[in-house]
Amino acid sequence: MSTNTLLILPGDGIGPEVMAEVRKVINWFGENRGLKFDVSEDLVGGAAYDAHGVPLHDDTMARAQEVDAVLLGAVGGPKYDDLDFSVKPERGLLRLRKEMDLYSNLRPAQCFDALADFSSLKKDIVAGLDIMILRELTSGVYFGEPRGIFEEGNERVGINTQRYTESEIERAARSAFELAMRRGKKVCSMEKANVMESGILWREVTTRVAKDYPEVELSHMYADNGAMQLVRAPKQFDVIFTDNLFGDILSDCAAMLTGSLGMLPSASLGAPMANGRPKALYEPVHGSAPDITGQGKANPIACVLSFAMALRYSFDQGDEATRLEQAIEAVLAKGLRTGDLLGAEGGTPISTSEMGDAIVTALQESLE
Ligand code: NAD
Repeated sequence: MSTNTLLILPGDGIGPEVMAEVRKVINWFGENRGLKFDVSEDLVGGAAYDAHGVPLHDDTMARAQEVDAVLLGAVGGPKYDDLDFSVKPERGLLRLRKEMDLYSNLRPAQCFDALADFSSLKKDIVAGLDIMILRELTSGVYFGEPRGIFEEGNERVGINTQRYTESEIERAARSAFELAMRRGKKVCSMEKANVMESGILWREVTTRVAKDYPEVELSHMYADNGAMQLVRAPKQFDVIFTDNLFGDILSDCAAMLTGSLGMLPSASLGAPMANGRPKALYEPVHGSAPDITGQGKANPIACVLSFAMALRYSFDQGDEATRLEQAIEAVLAKGLRTGDLLGAEGGTPISTSEMGDAIVTALQESLE
């Protein structure tokens, strides 16, 4: 069996706490499912700054380029707020994303039945929801030139440029279709082709790429209508494919359909490596949560679900990823809740490590 290499970067704040629970899950898969991981661990963010004076050491960067997947906890915290911009903890994360050229950002919006009451929408609209937003991450209006604030006559003008090349659209579109092939085989592409030339090109290229995936049903939607449809009837979607700016907004909107920040994983994928696996960074959406650090209150589920995404997208273990997601569903169905998940309907309060243990127990029960 080929070795699965994994670089763990716990980072700052609650990062190491939630990562300790992921370690339990990784060990369980090694001991019970024959899934062996060659795991190395290193520093990122403030922790790397404390040790090396930089938020990401060159050796760590080089290691990240070699492994099958990087799993990151969180970076940042008040201790580092006054650091120079160039060495702020976030720069470590941004360097990873940039140098690994992670152009596809995957943000699932999955609503566990036991938490459907947590959504701001009605329960029947979100219960069982399972959609994925694929946002192009390395181009578009956040990077296009010209940009800046310029003098024009007797006033200033702020300029940003939406710019996409065909190849940038095409490689992200391929990710979206590959993703759909592993899911519900539907892609809805969202842009503003009615008012933006970049949107016209986006639609053309996506339609062209779709011809290589005849099993996948492609539809197009203007992004403003897409936002409306996401809160009206989100279950109509499988994979939503969109650009950097619209994806930023739509993915936050979709994420909140599901309730708590402590439940949201993400993946950022790049080009395939020599072994066919994509360059990949998996991380929870939440930050380092300094307000609860060191108190055993952090919910590790977002980070565990990020590992489930690694199982599915880097290690081709979709069935085991589903086993892990179902174990989490079972834990929640038992009413076990970290503090962030304790709503009006109550539940049994448990700590970060008790949640990790409960997930491992549910995994074990899945074998019985
Ligand atoms: P945050 O996500 O850290 O916290 C927001 C709120 O959600 C806090 O009340 C926190 O306690 C809660 N929360 C977050 N994750 C949780 C979890 N797993 N379980 C239970 N509760 C959880 O965002 P913030 O407070 O705006 O930022 C704190 C620090 O994190 C800042 O330094 C910021 O720059 C950094 N940050 C890092 C990342 C990242 O590493 N990707 C992302 C966002 C923010």
